[in-house]
Amino acid sequence: MSNNDNEIFDLIQEEQERQITGLELIASENYVSNDVLAAAGSILTNKYAEGYPGKRYYGGCEIVDEIETIAIERAKELFNAEYVNVQPHSGSQANTAVFHACLKPGEKILGFDLSHGGHLTHGSPVNFSGKLYKTSFYGVEKETGLLNYDEIQKIAEKERPKLIIAGASAYSREIDYKRFREIADSIGAILLADIAHPAGLIAKGILQDAVAHAHICTSTTHKTLRGPRGGIIIMGKDFENPFGEKLKNGNLKKMSSLLNSGVFPGNQGGPLEHIIAAKAVAFKEALSDDFLHYMVQVKKNAKAMAEEFVKRDYDIISGGTDNHMMLIDLRNKNITGKQAEEALGKAHITVNKNMVPFDNQSPFITSGIRIGTAAITTRGLKEKDMAEIVRLIDVVLTNSNDISSISNCKQQVSSFITEYPLFNG
Ligand code: PLP
Repeated sequence: MSNNDNEIFDLIQEEQERQITGLELIASENYVSNDVLAAAGSILTNKYAEGYPGKRYYGGCEIVDEIETIAIERAKELFNAEYVNVQPHSGSQANTAVFHACLKPGEKILGFDLSHGGHLTHGSPVNFSGKLYKTSFYGVEKETGLLNYDEIQKIAEKERPKLIIAGASAYSREIDYKRFREIADSIGAILLADIAHPAGLIAKGILQDAVAHAHICTSTTHKTLRGPRGGIIIMGKDFENPFGEKLKNGNLKKMSSLLNSGVFPGNQGGPLEHIIAAKAVAFKEALSDDFLHYMVQVKKNAKAMAEEFVKRDYDIISGGTDNHMMLIDLRNKNITGKQAEEALGKAHITVNKNMVPFDNQSPFITSGIRIGTAAITTRGLKEKDMAEIVRLIDVVLTNSNDISSISNCKQQVSSFITEYPLFNG
């Protein structure tokens, strides 16, 4: 670490300590490998490279061209894709670029309601997606907590959106992209699958393949994919799609150039070549058998954890999980999401408060918490450890005002987690 700016580097050191000694249960977080970290922190940050490999607006891009091309090729192999853009700075910017490419302002989208598990960029009124486009939403059923595809079909027929978004930030069940595609086809809509959360599980064939069914997919690279913070856009091998006038006789070239210009110059300037290099490293790691074993374990851990919560009378939305996360409605435990997040934080257990479907609390308070197993599985935790984690969470939530009990839990968390050293630590 540098010695020249203690104010910042001391804080980075402190944050590293926090990451090492805490139990990281935020569903969208993970720990990257030392190689990913080295690429992300490399001198590539010095380079401007507006444009795409072979067609840049700056000189000196020969080497970053090679790096970006390798990143693209690895991502194509990982997702069995025909086209990948590795430049989006984030998942939100990947979505913005797709909207730019496929829609004119004022056209209609159909997305997963934010308060039921969707993402801000799927049409929330506080986001560009809700400000620039007309919005309509689908949600989960009150009784089951599940998506009801017949209902989504009805909403699609009534609303007739130009683009449908399948994907979520807080939905613990498998998404049926094939069914979503049938719905989109029945009304001539474009299907965008936002696989930001389950991308790693999808890449390894553990969940249904969104790339094979959606016209376009977007993802983050830093959640289950375990890469640097960033986004990607993917297209599979399906090109005979209703992309409006311009693409009526569309082919890959036309669609990829629309998407490419949706990213640059539509929505971004220079790409982050250091992050693109780190994405390339992460894609190589994700292509390995080790990563398959990791993903299998992430899912096993989530299932084991959800079962432990159910045993202790916690209300898991939909009753369980098929992926790496779960959403817990805390209303029967008499504690809000905000209070739970704060109390758990004091015990060095990090989660995020989250709206639950049909929540009666505001997004700042919420009635629930969201929990994921991607990060703890990277540290090597297995199913047997899930019971202990749930026990600790339960102690904190049932004694959230008892300082000594929380401090006791904090010590137990610390001694429990130091048995699983963090490879960046
Ligand atoms: N899409 C979904 C489904 C997400 O869950 C997220 C992030 O949580 C995003 C998009 C946006 O990603 P980012 O935070 O990188 O902009």
